[in-house]
Amino acid sequence: MKRLVILGSTGSIGTQALDVAQQLGYPIVALAAHSNTALLEQQIRQFHPRAAALFDEAAARDLRTRVRDCDVEILSGMAGLCELASREDADVVLNSVVGMVGLLPTLAAMRAGHDVALANKETLVAGGELVMGIAREKGVRLLPVDSEHSAIFQCLQGTRQGLWTPPQSSDALGIHRLILTASGGPFFGKTAEDLKTVTVQDALRHPNWSMGQKITIDSATMMNKGLELIEARWLFDVAPENIDIVVHRESIVHSLVEFDDYSVLAQLGMPDMRIPIQYALTWPERYVSPVQRLDLAAMGKLTFFKPDDAAFPCMSLCRRALQQGGAYPAAVNAANEVANALFRQEKISFPRIAELIAAALERPLSPVHTEQDILAVDEACRAYTRELVK
Ligand code: NDP
Ligand code: MG
Repeated sequence: MKRLVILGSTGSIGTQALDVAQQLGYPIVALAAHSNTALLEQQIRQFHPRAAALFDEAAARDLRTRVRDCDVEILSGMAGLCELASREDADVVLNSVVGMVGLLPTLAAMRAGHDVALANKETLVAGGELVMGIAREKGVRLLPVDSEHSAIFQCLQGTRQGLWTPPQSSDALGIHRLILTASGGPFFGKTAEDLKTVTVQDALRHPNWSMGQKITIDSATMMNKGLELIEARWLFDVAPENIDIVVHRESIVHSLVEFDDYSVLAQLGMPDMRIPIQYALTWPERYVSPVQRLDLAAMGKLTFFKPDDAAFPCMSLCRRALQQGGAYPAAVNAANEVANALFRQEKISFPRIAELIAAALERPLSPVHTEQDILAVDEACRAYTRELVK
């Protein structure tokens, strides 16, 4: 039994994590979200956390009034999130907030000595080196929730070193290559020309996964796979040139590891995030889960394709960000967060998202060492991207 803090509890991952926690009988010590007062109130009444937080101050005040009859402390702002993340009565902090705003709470949890189940990939994209360094220093684990990274993590169990978790060094594991699978999103097969006229509604129609809006758009641009490439580079300590991406339309093979002898291990299952969420929480144990079981004969066939870098340039832009190193991964993430939101507001076209990300790579940026450096780069790149659109 592990006591959980869930940040981003009102989101797609957060609500599924609460489902999983309930099935497992894991107690919830704290919950946090941005401003969804109604759902957080409902979760407080159902799961009885000792504390909860809303990032938005006004929403937090409203929540405090609504739950006056409950024995729960209500916090607000980034300070509130970080306080929940570092609570002494927690065993694992599941970070499923969306965006690079998750960086400070992740750091707070690790500095308090907690293992972090990480769905919030932007944290590792913007601050991978710093985050992994602190995990090593503090001796805490990063348990991947992202399905591809969970698949790789699962393939790395039972190596000659025994059970493996990041941030252990992966040097001795004999990894030759990681292969990330990508669904290809709603626009698989479309050309750069076709993509000029796609709408927000088209982009939000993901074929296999039901997810929050930001990551659904990231899947349509395939920026999601670029972000995951950076996430994998840090989580598994594998050089980017040894990380491949393959399009797999059915989302059944969640990713693969090729070892030095060219033996390849893969993890398969139905596309249901409750599998990786549960594994991150129960590792190294496995328990029965409520998800549909895989029936390969019913699937018939599984298909694999080379990604189309010309129509979907975001993957190569993320590779370039890693090559340029330093602040550039944080810069492409910031440009993407802004561009993704502007596209959803119908202020820019779909291909403009990649153009704005490319622009972030052209600017001279100083190296980043601390979280303050990363936050400063993030802020400056957001402002620059907004300026370009004006
Ligand atoms: P959603 O948009 O569904 O949910 C986002 C959650 O984060 C909500 O609870 C939201 O609160 C909260 N949030 C947003 N901003 C803040 C803030 N400033 N402070 C506190 N809480 C905040 O996103 P998803 O659940 O889809 O994704 C969450 C993360 O997990 C992302 O990083 C995504 O890339 C990653 N991920 C998601 C997958 C999925 O299947 N959904 C798969 C793999 C990774 P509120 O409701 O109040 O706005
Ligand atoms: Mg993923």
